[in-house]
Amino acid sequence: MKEKRREIVNDSMQALHALAKLIPQLNSRSSLSEMLETINKALGASLAWVSVDDNDGLQRVVCAGDVACHAFEVTDFLASTLLARHHRSWRVVYWKEHIGRTLFPPQHPGHAQLQSGVLCKLSSRDWRCSGYFFLAFDERLHALPILKNIVVVLVERLKDYFEEIVTREKTAHEMQRVVTQYKTLFERAPVLMNSFDKHNRCVLWNAECEKVFGWSMAEIIAHSDPLMLFYPDPEERRRVRESVHISPLKDMYEWHPLRKDGTQLTILWSNILLPDGSILNIGLDITERKKAEQQLAVKATTDDLTGCLNRSAILQRLKTALAASSRQDADSHFCVLMFDLDYFKQINDEWGHQTGDAALVHFCDRIREVSPEHAALGRVGGEEFLLLLARADGEAATRLATRLRQALKAKPLVVGDKKLELAFSAGAVEVCRGQRDTSALLTRADKALYDAKRTGRGKTVLASDYL
Ligand code: GH3
Ligand code: MG
Ligand code: MG
Repeated sequence: MKEKRREIVNDSMQALHALAKLIPQLNSRSSLSEMLETINKALGASLAWVSVDDNDGLQRVVCAGDVACHAFEVTDFLASTLLARHHRSWRVVYWKEHIGRTLFPPQHPGHAQLQSGVLCKLSSRDWRCSGYFFLAFDERLHALPILKNIVVVLVERLKDYFEEIVTREKTAHEMQRVVTQYKTLFERAPVLMNSFDKHNRCVLWNAECEKVFGWSMAEIIAHSDPLMLFYPDPEERRRVRESVHISPLKDMYEWHPLRKDGTQLTILWSNILLPDGSILNIGLDITERKKAEQQLAVKATTDDLTGCLNRSAILQRLKTALAASSRQDADSHFCVLMFDLDYFKQINDEWGHQTGDAALVHFCDRIREVSPEHAALGRVGGEEFLLLLARADGEAATRLATRLRQALKAKPLVVGDKKLELAFSAGAVEVCRGQRDTSALLTRADKALYDAKRTGRGKTVLASDYL
């Protein structure tokens, strides 16, 4: 083999023959490194490389051969004083012997192995990229022009493919970069991303999905209908399917799938139908945010001390009830009870403000005890409360107030070793169909309450009694 190599490098007939066989083998379908391998094999070279400076200012080095060579060795070699000594107009430089010593450090096998070499400038026809082609042999050169001419012919041929290969490899490189970027985004983004093919098989399930739902991709694949895991209710499942298959969503919509541990999540989903019939789902887990919003909403409508509705919330309820009643909805009649604790100022004065607070809480708890479940209780003033009783008349309201008095008697507020019995007055108003004025209603309730106070306290007055 070695013998044959020497013949090629130093024998013009052999070289010409090898070149003639080599040229048809070079084509733009192969990669740069494949092309260099082909050249090495045909000419018996031990190392070939191409260094390319593309128009983006990036240097790329491709090496091939028995002698291992790194890009930095090529860069160092090109930058060495050796090249600087040559005039800019040189095209081909060659070394008859010891080229290995110039290229590699002493411990490198190529240092002693490589003898002859030739470096030739290489540029694409339109100068969009330029570089160098290098070829090295284990043998010394005896006949200088042979190798030089081989390389000149080879480089002329390479030019035809040079730009195409470089562009293609750059594109492939760019594609790889994009794929890596998307893969990283898919895996690491704190966004739910999954995809199901047209046969409902899970084909993508990112780390965030596993984290939020608790199911691994293998578990999802193992299930014949994965949607059942998240939506056990068939009706909800039908709606999910419909939204995905019939009208892919452009915006994000709220859904409430289950986690593996059975807890309910709040997820914003957007579905994209891909051309192959598969569906890409992109989602945001807003469970915690939603909980916080709900807690805030509850706080905004609740009275801090007693836990019943605050003034604005109970008045809003009253407005809504009145609106339903004025639309003459069936069963929309209701009754309003306005309570006010009797001599409450005295409780504060005698027992202290803290006991006064405890008395307000105690009073509310007793109201809840005697009220139907759907009744709405709100604090409209310091020690004044409003109770909305749906589908109740004045008589029912009066009965409720009586039960409340009994409850307060049976369960007085315990303060240390003493007991405090609370008393209240109440005004009740029956609301019939067609009434719609909130303030007129409240005035009537106030008036009835005032009358209860005026006529001795500890009693309930029904507003209609006075009209
Ligand atoms: P009446 O029988 O006529 O209703 O007399 P009253 O003493 O209950 O009524 P008044 O309006 O004179 O006093 C109400 C008191 O309620 C005055 C106020 O200091 C007290 N109060 C209002 N809000 C609170 C509260 O949140 N905690 C406590 N401890 N007291 C409150
Ligand atoms: Mg009072
Ligand atoms: Mg009062």
